[in-house]
Amino acid sequence: MKRKRVEEAKDNPAYKDLLTIFEHLIGLTESSIEQVRPYLKPVPLSSYVEEKFREGLPLVDKKNFPVPDKIFDTLLNTFLDGLTGIGDSVDRDLRVLKSKRQDGSLSGRRLIDQFVMGHQSFLSYVFEMPDINNHLLFLALRNIFKICLTPFQDTLTEELAKGWERGECPVCGFPPDMGILRGEGGKLYLHCAICGHEWRFKRMACAFCGNDLQKELEYLEIEGDEVHKIHLCHLCQRYLKILDSRSLPEDTPIFLDLEELTTLHLDIIADQQGFIPGINL
Ligand SMILES: [Zn+2]
Ligand SMILES: [Zn+2]
Repeated sequence: MKRKRVEEAKDNPAYKDLLTIFEHLIGLTESSIEQVRPYLKPVPLSSYVEEKFREGLPLVDKKNFPVPDKIFDTLLNTFLDGLTGIGDSVDRDLRVLKSKRQDGSLSGRRLIDQFVMGHQSFLSYVFEMPDINNHLLFLALRNIFKICLTPFQDTLTEELAKGWERGECPVCGFPPDMGILRGEGGKLYLHCAICGHEWRFKRMACAFCGNDLQKELEYLEIEGDEVHKIHLCHLCQRYLKILDSRSLPEDTPIFLDLEELTTLHLDIIADQQGFIPGINL
């Protein structure tokens, strides 16, 4: 079903290249999960972790990000190899990344640390490499982290999740890249930019700075697009792209990671108004 949606979205030439990469990543993620599943043990919910969680700390401790180096390296190599051959520009980027791996400047552990300790340092380290397609590496890493975080998804019980009121993901602690309004009255759910977990959040609050002053918040309607809105916070100047699922036929399959990629028009509008994506911390 997801592949079908990707195919449909590829009709828009602006997204064709990116979605070809995305399509490959779906396949690589599926096959890699099978490959590393035996090494991904379920995470026990200790009373210590549960207590910390109730105090507002996500399940995954960022400082000790539980991704084994060996699995991460295996996955990174699998993804870099698996994306080869899609097109010239991707191949060129992959060659740069692979040579950085070979000379040791792009070690798995360093990438993990940079990635989890915040986008700013991560961006300056990786994305500013000349000639690298920013999205390529980000998307590959996101999928790798998603695979490695699978055991934590099962650890978070519905009961425990209910008490989580923060704007960061309760599983991995990353900010959301999309929000979705669902059901009567439009309950807001946030979608984690990294592990893809969804959690309920107050509709009238900023997911990034926590501001809940109504006069500083705004749901911007998009002309000619009834399905999307942009949630603006005038306090921290960040925005969150929102899919209003109530405007879609009930059985429409929704994939928010795909939605995030194919809503560049929202980013352009928000940027023009002087807002920055919430994910850029
Ligand atoms: Zn997450
Ligand atoms: Zn804010």
